[in-house]
Amino acid sequence: MNFIFGPVNSRRLGISLGIDLLPPKICNFNCIYCEVGPTTEFTNERGEYADTAAIIAEIEAFRADEAAVARLDVLTITASGEPTLHLGLGEIIAHCKKKIAKPVAVLSNGSLLHDPQVRRELAQADIIIPSLDAARDESFRRINRPDRQCRLSEIIDGLVAFRREFTGHYWLEILLAKGINDTPADLAALAAAVARIKPERVQLNTVARPPLESFARPLRAEELRAAAAALPVTVDILTDRAADAPPLVRDVLASKRGRREDEEEVLHLLRRRPCTAADISTALGMERERVDQATAQLTAAGHVGTSHHRDQKYYIVLPRGQEHPQD
Ligand code: SF4
Repeated sequence: MNFIFGPVNSRRLGISLGIDLLPPKICNFNCIYCEVGPTTEFTNERGEYADTAAIIAEIEAFRADEAAVARLDVLTITASGEPTLHLGLGEIIAHCKKKIAKPVAVLSNGSLLHDPQVRRELAQADIIIPSLDAARDESFRRINRPDRQCRLSEIIDGLVAFRREFTGHYWLEILLAKGINDTPADLAALAAAVARIKPERVQLNTVARPPLESFARPLRAEELRAAAAALPVTVDILTDRAADAPPLVRDVLASKRGRREDEEEVLHLLRRRPCTAADISTALGMERERVDQATAQLTAAGHVGTSHHRDQKYYIVLPRGQEHPQD
C-alpha cells in the first residue's frame, strides 16, 4: 500500500508531498462531484482505518532523501475519503511536524470539526482547508449526500469553533454545482455561514474535473464571480488551467526517470484524480512527450481510458477488467 504520492505541483500549495490516509475511499459523504469515485465504506465513525505505523514508515523513507525534502513547499494530508475519520491522524500530523521542517496542510470535508478531539489533532497543523458546500439542509444533502448522522448545523458550529481555536491558516473551500447549491437562497445562506465562520479566505471552486455524477455541472466564470461577490471575505476563484499553476521546479523537470517509472507515477496520480495530459505534466514535472508516451502505454495495457469534460480530455483509471476506454 502506498500512502505517499508526489511530490506534485499543487495549484494551491506549491510543491506538495501528498499523504493519503485512506486508500480505498472511506468517507461520511458521497459528493456528487467527487473525483475519487463512489464511497466504498460509508461511515461517520472514527476508526483505525489505515496502518498508522506503515504511513509513518513511508514518511520516514521519504525523509531519508534530503534533497527531495528540501524541494517541498508543504506536506499535504488528505485522503481518498475523509482524513479526520482516521484515528491516527493526530499522531501522523505530530510526526510530520516533529521530523520535517515544512508546513503541514490538511484537506478535510469539515464534517467532524464539532468533535473537540478532532480539533485538537488538527490544531497541530499549519494550514487547514475544510469544505462547506451548502448552508441549507436540502442543498447539503443534494450535493454532499452525507451519512444520515451528519447534521449541517453541527458541522457549521464545528467550523466556527475551530476558527476560534486555531492559530494557523484557515481557508474555507466552497464548491458550487449548477442548479444544486447555487441558488440565491443558497448563496445567501453560505454568506451568512461564512460571516459566522470568518475564514481567512474562501476558495471558490466548481466542478472542474470529471465528477462522480454526470448531473454535477460547473458554473460559468461569470457566475462564479457573482457568487464570490456575495461572500463577505476575500475569495480566490480556483481555476483548473495548467497555465495558472505555479512554475515548475527545475529539479523536478530535470529528474531522469525510465519509461516504466513514468507509467507507474502517472498511474499513481490518476488513481487519485482524473487529469489532462497538461495536469500530469505539471503535477509530476514530466515533459509532455514522456506524459504522452506513458499514457499511450497505459491505455494500450488497458489500465487507463479517457473521459471528456468541458472540452478537455481527461485520463482516468479503468476499473479492473474493463479493457477499453469509455469514450
Ligand atoms: S469529495 Fe471528499 S468528502 Fe466528498 S465524497 Fe469525495 S472524498 Fe468524500
